[in-house]
Amino acid sequence: MDLPTLTEVRLPTTRVELALSDTVIPLGGGTWLFSEPQDHLTGLVDLTALGWTPWERRPDGGLSVAATCTIAQLTRIPADPGWRALPLFRQCAESLLQSFKVWNTATVGGNIATALAAGALIGLGGALDAELVIWTPDGGERRQRVADAVLAQRTTTLVPCEVIRSIEFDSVPLAARTAFRRIALSPLGRAGTVLAARQDADGAFVLCVTGGTTRPEVVRFPSLPSAAELATAVAAIPSWFTDAHGAADWREAVSRLLAEEIRQELAGAEAAR
Ligand SMILES: Cc1cc2nc3c(=O)[nH]c(=O)nc-3n(C[C@H](O)[C@H](O)[C@H](O)COP(=O)(O)OP(=O)(O)OC[C@H]3O[C@@H](n4cnc5c(N)ncnc54)[C@H](O)[C@@H]3O)c2cc1C
Repeated sequence: MDLPTLTEVRLPTTRVELALSDTVIPLGGGTWLFSEPQDHLTGLVDLTALGWTPWERRPDGGLSVAATCTIAQLTRIPADPGWRALPLFRQCAESLLQSFKVWNTATVGGNIATALAAGALIGLGGALDAELVIWTPDGGERRQRVADAVLAQRTTTLVPCEVIRSIEFDSVPLAARTAFRRIALSPLGRAGTVLAARQDADGAFVLCVTGGTTRPEVVRFPSLPSAAELATAVAAIPSWFTDAHGAADWREAVSRLLAEEIRQELAGAEAAR
């Protein structure tokens, strides 16, 4: 839709040229920004003009994903024997029901900054303990895990003039075995709950629940938990919510079932090693 209060859309070439304010904010792919009125805004600064490389292998074996990397580019990272978790990237990306346009335009940074409960890449970052590199207005930067940066629906720790520069994935979680489950009330419906999990080489188990919770909920165990331990941990998640895509009690119940499926899947893979 048109955003009639805008007086500028700038194309910066350097960080200094960002010059953000309360009413001049970053533009990623624009798929959410242009989907509803933004009458409080006077300008947008198109981060894609900065020309960041979509993703790069880090010298330590980790992966650095630029905030402007599109969902499509994220899913095209080639397979790598050290990055066993890569299938989870596509599974999480596809948990977002989207058009061709959103798939090819929406950015990873924009998806996380939008902080929807069903934020597809929030679940990915939560399960893999990915860390945001955030440019701060004083010219510095701060780092924060994705799961800690998303506080509630449409609420993050980002303050005005902060910009997500990249999402950092360390080599250990990238090498993990992963499992994924999603359910919706209808075949093409919005997610009722989304579960993304990993098991590291040392046995540590991490599960991130999104979609049915108002914020990413991460549960951890030093090794694969028992069925009862996992069910108790999932039931203890405090932020289930009710909307047109599912009732809170259904979301909790089905998440317990799906978490157990994940546990059994990873246990089977562990036994086969
Ligand atoms: C009606 C609707 C429903 C949707 N539902 C879902 C859903 O359930 N799950 C899901 O995952 N996606 C959903 N999406 C799509 C998706 O969340 C967003 O459209 C997309 O991921 C946002 O990415 P973008 O790059 O287009 O962000 P933009 O639209 O460009 O920006 C979105 C917000 O993020 C900020 N932003 C962008 N980049 C940065 C950055 N690098 N640093 C700081 N702030 C930044 C912008 O200032 C803006 O506030 C939905 C979209 C629409 C229109």
